[in-house]
Amino acid sequence: MIETKGYATHDDKAKFVPFEFSRRDLGPHDILIDIQYCGICHSDIHQARAEWEPMIPSIFPMVPGHEIVGRVSQVGAEVTKFSDGDFAGIGCFVDSCRECPACIAGIEQYCIKGSAQTYNSTEMDRKTPTYGGYSKQYVVDEKYALKINSKGDLSGVAPLLCAGITTYSPLKRWGAGPGKKVAVAGLGGLGHMGVKIAAAMGAEVTVLSTSPSKEKDARALGAHKFLVTKDEEAVKGATGTFDLILDTISAQHDYNFYLSLLGLEGVMVLVGVPTEPIPLNALSLIGGNKVLAGSLIGGIPETQEMLDFCAKHNIVADVEVIDPSRIEEAYDRTVKSDVRYRFVIDMQNA
Ligand code: NAP
Ligand code: ZN
Repeated sequence: MIETKGYATHDDKAKFVPFEFSRRDLGPHDILIDIQYCGICHSDIHQARAEWEPMIPSIFPMVPGHEIVGRVSQVGAEVTKFSDGDFAGIGCFVDSCRECPACIAGIEQYCIKGSAQTYNSTEMDRKTPTYGGYSKQYVVDEKYALKINSKGDLSGVAPLLCAGITTYSPLKRWGAGPGKKVAVAGLGGLGHMGVKIAAAMGAEVTVLSTSPSKEKDARALGAHKFLVTKDEEAVKGATGTFDLILDTISAQHDYNFYLSLLGLEGVMVLVGVPTEPIPLNALSLIGGNKVLAGSLIGGIPETQEMLDFCAKHNIVADVEVIDPSRIEEAYDRTVKSDVRYRFVIDMQNA
C-alpha cells in the first residue's frame, strides 16, 4: 500500500484535520498522480455537511475533492495513455462496471450498476472506501483519468474536471450556439464556467443572479446581459425570452419563476442540487411546451473533449488558491455566494 496524507472531516460539522491513509499499490493499468490542485465544489460541502441524506449518505471520515489535477509519478506495467511526468486529472468518478450500455456508450457517470465516486463512495468491490482530492496522491485506472495538455499553472484547470464538464455537457446537448439565447442561473463555480463555455460556443449569454455586485465580473466572463432576479421590472422584461436556462443554483429557489423566463419550447436543465424537493406547477411546463431536464457531470470521452475545447478557447476557471488550513472558511464563503469563482486548494506543500 502507498501511505499518503489528506484532509478529512470526521462528522457533518465539517472541520478538516490532517488524515493519514493508504492508496492501493499500482495494478497494471493504474497511475499514481501527485496532486497539485483540487477545487472545492459545492457538492463537497453538501456531502461533508450531510445535506443530501438520505438520498446520498455521507460516509465518514470523508476526504472530499473531485476536481483534481497533478503530475503522474508512477505508471503500471500496461499503461499506455500516460507516462511519468505527464499532467493528469480526475473528476467525479474513478471506476464503473465497464459493461452496461451506459459504460459502453462512454457515459460512465450513468453506469447502471452505479459508478465508483471519487470520494464518499466505495471502489467497485463496494467495500473499499474512496477518498478524494484534498490529498497528496491518488491511484486511478488510466481509463478513468484525463489527459491535461495545458502547460504552466494548473490551478485554473482543476475546476474544469467538475464545474467545466457539468456545464459543457448540457450546453452542448441542448444546442447552445449562435442564435441561441442562453441564461445561466447562479454565478458561482459552475455558473461562471457555464458563462465562459456558452459564450465560446457562440450563444448570447445572460446571467440570472441574486448578487448585483457580480455584474461587472459576469460581463468580463463573457455574458452579454445580466439580470438581478430580485429586480421585478427587469425580470418582467425577460419573461418568455430564453431558449435554454442552465440552472446551477445550490439552494432552494422557485423553479416556476425560472421556467416563466423560457420561450416557446424552451429547455431548462437542472445541474444545481438543492437539498429539499421543490414544488413544481405543471402549468409552468405545459404552457409553452417546455422541457425540464437534468444533467450529471459527463463521461470520460466528453470530459476529454471539454478539456480540449477549453484549451483551444483559452478557458480556465477564475480561482482563489488557498492552503488546506482554510477549507472551512472557503466552505462558509461559498455558501454565502462569496466566491470569485472557485476556491482551489494547493496540495503541493500540504
Ligand atoms: P456555488 O459556487 O456555491 O454557486 C452557486 C450559486 O447559486 C451562487 O454563487 C449563487 O449565485 C446562487 N445561489 C445561491 N443561493 C441561492 C438562492 N437561495 N437563490 C438563488 N440563487 C442562489 O456552487 P457550485 O459549486 O457552482 O455548485 C452549484 C450546484 O450544482 C450545487 O448544488 C452542486 O452540488 C451542484 N453540482 C451538480 C453537478 C451535476 O453534475 N449536476 C456537478 C457539480 C455540482 P448568485 O450569487 O449569482 O445568485
Ligand atoms: Zn463537483
